[in-house]
Amino acid sequence: MEVDSTAVPRRTTRQIFVGDVPVGGGAPITVQSMTITKTADVDGTLQQIYALAAAGADIVRCTCNETAAAEGLAQIVPRSPVPIIADIHHQYKMALAAMEAGVQGLRLNPGNIRRADHIRAVATEARDRAIPIRIGVNAGSLDPALYEKYGGATPEAMVESAKHEIGYFDEVGFDLIKISVKASSVPLMVEAYRQLSEVTDYPLHLGVTEAGPPPAGLVKATAGIATLLLEGIGDTIRYSLTADPVEEVRAGRQLLEALGLRERKNVDLIACPSCGRAEVDVIEIANRAMEAFEDRKLPLQIAVMGCVVNGPGEARDADLGIAAGNSRGHLFVKGQNVAVVPEDEMVDQLVEWAEFITEHGVEAALARVDLVKAAREAERDRARLLDDQGSDANHSAEKIVEIRKATAGGA
Ligand code: SF4
Repeated sequence: MEVDSTAVPRRTTRQIFVGDVPVGGGAPITVQSMTITKTADVDGTLQQIYALAAAGADIVRCTCNETAAAEGLAQIVPRSPVPIIADIHHQYKMALAAMEAGVQGLRLNPGNIRRADHIRAVATEARDRAIPIRIGVNAGSLDPALYEKYGGATPEAMVESAKHEIGYFDEVGFDLIKISVKASSVPLMVEAYRQLSEVTDYPLHLGVTEAGPPPAGLVKATAGIATLLLEGIGDTIRYSLTADPVEEVRAGRQLLEALGLRERKNVDLIACPSCGRAEVDVIEIANRAMEAFEDRKLPLQIAVMGCVVNGPGEARDADLGIAAGNSRGHLFVKGQNVAVVPEDEMVDQLVEWAEFITEHGVEAALARVDLVKAAREAERDRARLLDDQGSDANHSAEKIVEIRKATAGGA
């Protein structure tokens, strides 16, 4: 599926490379996540990195908080399927050790590595090795001097922190930079990124920090990241969820696919919210379908609709869908009825048809069935449902007569 050409114009940024992954400069927006294993646990960390890559992570970050972690990175990097970024706090020597280990990127927090000579030492080494660094400003760990100057963690304070760090990098001629100004407050991070994007063309890494567990964490992270992406701001993203990091990657991919900013790789499941007309438990079937499609890489939009009265029409643009009627499911492809299946086979049949369409295309799917027969069956169930429930569930004709009576003679 093509990337949505109606998406807003992206802000122009410089391009850097994290390993072989381009970030900024019009490159596809990338999805990042972070391992939650001890980095010294090489096998455990690699297992998690593979799971993240399989879910769609383009880049993975690992903490480098001790010598054993740096030693672990030396073994992890050559076996990782995606570039590895080392996360550094407080100890600049860990940044030097991580570069020695071969990482493809660093993240430094300017709030907790503050000595100019330490920052210059890291930037000089990164320059000589052509390793990019993310300046990762965090509202919760700003330099106390900036807190004092601005009276708190304001967008201006966060932007100044980033600019201050860039100043040190400029001194040694290092410019392989991306920047983040994260906060757990959505309005604060949105404003900080907006201001930052006005003063720099370095690529930006978006995130709402400490968003928390889903679903609230997902809502917060999406609110912040999506707002900025829709303004054309942002080159790489990370959902910071208190959850299995695979969830972060799935969320990141889903957001980019939903905004038309990355090509579709996974099923886009749409489902009606259900209502009194529903002939099946739509929530249960949609959840089962979601589960069945979760690990299948099928780039299709698939609809689960609760009734055959409105379902096929409302989901006519979906590649494939199913609508319930008379204890059975009516399968439709691009709005055309193709088959009738027993209710308990609805999800299995969706999977079978989705795989067929992915492999052979819509035309082949339509050619393999008796479309006239399927349409006749659907029409029969639709008519029966309308008969049972009435085509005018709100009794609007009678209500209109009453409304006219009540309003006769003007206001
Ligand atoms: S598709 Fe049918 S069941 Fe679902 S919300 Fe619409 S009318 Fe209700």
